[in-house]
Amino acid sequence: MKPTSPRAARRLAQKGKKSAPLSIGDLADRVAKAKVKGVDTTLEHRAKRILTSYLQTAQTYGLPVKDVITEMASGQTAWRLGSAVRDEILKTPPDAVRNAACAQGCAFCCILSGGEGGVITRFEAEQLHTAAAPLAGAPDGRDWHPQACPALDPETRSCRAYEARPMICRSFLSTDATACERNAAGGEEQGAGLLGSHLDYLVVHALCRQALKGITQVHTYSMAATAAAAAAGKDAESGLTTARHKPSALEIACRDGANAAATRPGSSAKP
Ligand code: SF4
Ligand code: SF4
Repeated sequence: MKPTSPRAARRLAQKGKKSAPLSIGDLADRVAKAKVKGVDTTLEHRAKRILTSYLQTAQTYGLPVKDVITEMASGQTAWRLGSAVRDEILKTPPDAVRNAACAQGCAFCCILSGGEGGVITRFEAEQLHTAAAPLAGAPDGRDWHPQACPALDPETRSCRAYEARPMICRSFLSTDATACERNAAGGEEQGAGLLGSHLDYLVVHALCRQALKGITQVHTYSMAATAAAAAAGKDAESGLTTARHKPSALEIACRDGANAAATRPGSSAKP
């Protein structure tokens, strides 16, 4: 049917636009327009570059757009990209990594003093819950220290969800275990922090959320609450509902990480 006026032509064009299926190119346009509050443009551009190359690769390999959306929303995208940046950093380890005092059984960093344990994605929360659920009812990290992560073994002080531990646990390190012990007791000692790749991971996830606005929701979760829900025997659905953050938590983590990186290049502070 031919439009009878310019207004009708515009309406017809708009209708066609609405019903057109979303493409990976559309997602890339959305990423280009996305903004993350509290993060400087250098960091934002860097995360956009990483996320855009991921979308280009997905397009090259002909991945269905619905699968790409699912990965972006669950946090698998941020996980993959954050891990790739982390691996790249570790190829030429900086001083903080070469001189790290981290060892098995040293677990002051698993004392989650703020009661939060950091921001994790749905992908990580599901994995952590699955790994920690079989431990329900057994003595847990809180038998060693009241604020320790429930996934910690209270005897050996090793992580019992090691393969499923979130990115924040994989990125935190310190050159001074004594500083970690003091920080766990409320101190503010230097020497401990997160690899810079953790900030890329957070900002990429925040960009995914912005880019998927109106398409699907992107939630984040408290690591401590996720592990506690699993230890209490809650199933994944109710456990993750309890552990779900307010949307501002991700923005705050990005902003705090960016501020810490600005004062101590190469690392961001433990949330
Ligand atoms: S971050 Fe600190 S507490 Fe954790 S393993 Fe390393 S030195 Fe030990
Ligand atoms: S998941 Fe494992 S490494 Fe992370 S805080 Fe808990 S016990 Fe520690």
